[in-house]
Amino acid sequence: MPELPEVEKAARRLARVALGKTIASARAIHPSLKRKFSPSQSRAVKGKRIESIERRGKHQLLRLDNGDTLVVHFRMNGDWEFGNTSDPLDKFARAVIELTDGTRVSLVDRRALSAITLDKKGSSSLPRLGREASDSSLDADYLSDVLKRKKIAIKPALMDQSVVAGLGNIYAAEALWEAEMDPRTSAARVERAKLEKLVTAIRLVLSPKRRRPGRYTDTRGVERFAVYDREGMICRRCGGTIERIVQAGRSTYFCSSCQL
Ligand SMILES: [Zn+2]
Repeated sequence: MPELPEVEKAARRLARVALGKTIASARAIHPSLKRKFSPSQSRAVKGKRIESIERRGKHQLLRLDNGDTLVVHFRMNGDWEFGNTSDPLDKFARAVIELTDGTRVSLVDRRALSAITLDKKGSSSLPRLGREASDSSLDADYLSDVLKRKKIAIKPALMDQSVVAGLGNIYAAEALWEAEMDPRTSAARVERAKLEKLVTAIRLVLSPKRRRPGRYTDTRGVERFAVYDREGMICRRCGGTIERIVQAGRSTYFCSSCQL
């Protein structure tokens, strides 16, 4: 599943091929994407120039020169594929944006869960989003303020996009392991010192240095994830056993011996 680092990277790849260029045509191909990107919206973006590409949470925002914004969300499996308008279309292409220089940007997604929509100038379809997980404005003061109103455990609270934008299942679990915090702790009751530690942990797990080169290993070939998807394996900090529980319908991996 694309998490914040993957979406950030996708937005940068898109900017390299599409920034400053003009849309020749854009259309949704799959019926489920057509619901939010209609033929009239297709017509509305034709001839518009892509002025900037931003990421907000896991949303990619393509700002057009008339003030409208194309909003794309990859959900579970989406990704960009780049080619030329003369190439055969990928069978999993769910929406395509063709540029006047002959570049084709395809939104590919086996499961067709991705979304594309057009926000007219001055309107926004984005949900309420908290501070960015990767932004320096995310600090203990902010977390303390938003978490005190949450009557849920810290792990699902961290995944709530209105609390922290961009933090998903993998990195929420990894950050809690780094901060030595039990994911079942009540969000409203986390002590101040722990919140400081949590902020540092979130930065650490999202830091680009930790991500190269593979999906599951770091630069030294060491497993990238301390707890995620490691049920039954040994905790590399304390030698305990990684457990899996379900919180708010999602798997949480943690070490009950050292996450207290
Ligand atoms: Zn442990």
